[in-house]
Amino acid sequence: MAEETPKPCDLCGLPIETSDFSLLTVNGPKQFCCEGCHGIYQMLHEGEIIDNGDGGNTTN
Ligand SMILES: [Zn+2]
Repeated sequence: MAEETPKPCDLCGLPIETSDFSLLTVNGPKQFCCEGCHGIYQMLHEGEIIDNGDGGNTTN
């Protein structure tokens, strides 16, 4: 059957090789290629993050 096509990173568009870096936002689930993109997206869209998968609850 067809090979799985990697999903592009929601920040930089590079193919994602791991599903370790994901966020749930008001716009739906987002996936990133690396921790850097994950962190940058979080900063840029802070108000849209529903669950960062980390249980962090220190910001207000
Ligand atoms: Zn990326």
